[in-house]
Amino acid sequence: MPELPEVQTVLGGVIQKLGTKQITGLECYYPGTVIDRLSPQDQPFPAKLRQGYRRGKYMILELTSGFALIIHLRMTGKLVWDKDDGEPKAHERAAILVSGGNRLRFIDIRTFGKITLLPGTQVHEALPNLGAEPLQQGFGAAYLSARLAKSKRPIKTALLDQSIVAGLGNIYVCEILYEAGVNPFKFCNQLNEEDFAKIAAATKLILAQALMHNGTSISDFRRVDDKAGSFQNFLKVYQKEHCPQGHEVQKLKQAGRSTYLCPVCQK
Ligand SMILES: [Zn+2]
Repeated sequence: MPELPEVQTVLGGVIQKLGTKQITGLECYYPGTVIDRLSPQDQPFPAKLRQGYRRGKYMILELTSGFALIIHLRMTGKLVWDKDDGEPKAHERAAILVSGGNRLRFIDIRTFGKITLLPGTQVHEALPNLGAEPLQQGFGAAYLSARLAKSKRPIKTALLDQSIVAGLGNIYVCEILYEAGVNPFKFCNQLNEEDFAKIAAATKLILAQALMHNGTSISDFRRVDDKAGSFQNFLKVYQKEHCPQGHEVQKLKQAGRSTYLCPVCQK
C-alpha cells in the first residue's frame, strides 16, 4: 500500500507530466472510483493544473478552473502516463484526459482507490481528520509526547493512526521503530521523552531516505513512468529474516497487520 514516500513520488511525476497541458476530462470506468461532488452547472474542464500537493496519503490537484481532484491510491492504485488510444486498459478504473493525445491512467486491481472531483473550496472538509505531516515543522518529540504519552495503545498502532501522524503505513512504521530501537508492542504510556525523540528523529530519517529512493516497490507500487522505487533494497526488518546486526527478525500479528521486529535491537 502506497505510503507517504510513494504518494509523494507519484505526485511529483503527475505534476511533471501534466505541466501546463490542458486537462480535458475525467472518465470513470468502474462504478465508485470517481466520486463526483459537482453541481449540474459546474464545468471543471478544460483546465490546467494550478498546483498539486500531498496531505497524508492523499494527492490534491488544484485546477485553474477552481475545481480540484483528490486522489487516494489506497491498496493497489497507480497512475500511469500513457498515449491516449481512446480505450481503457486492463484494471483501468478511471482516466484523466490530457490534451496532446495523452492520458493519466488510474490502474487499480483491488478497486479501493478513489478520485474525488469537487469545488476547490471543499477540499479541506472532504479530507478526513489528519494529524501532523511528519516532514514538516510541528512534528517532533514534543508533538508525539503531547498526543501519545497518556495513550494505552501500542506505539505501532498509534503511529498507523492517520489522525496522529499523516502518511505512515505498515512498512515505514516497522522500519521507523527498528531505527528508533523501540519495540512496536510497547504501550505509548510506557515510553519516555527520549523514546519519543528517537521515534520522531527516525521517522524523519526513514521518510527522507525513502523519498530519495523514490519509495518502496514491494508489491506493485510504480511511479508515473511505470518504473519501480528502490527503497525496498534498504529495508532493515520489514519482510527480512535478519536485522543488520544479524539477529533473527520476528514476524508477529498486531491489530491484523504483520509486524516485523528485532527482539534484541528493539527493547
Ligand atoms: Zn537486531
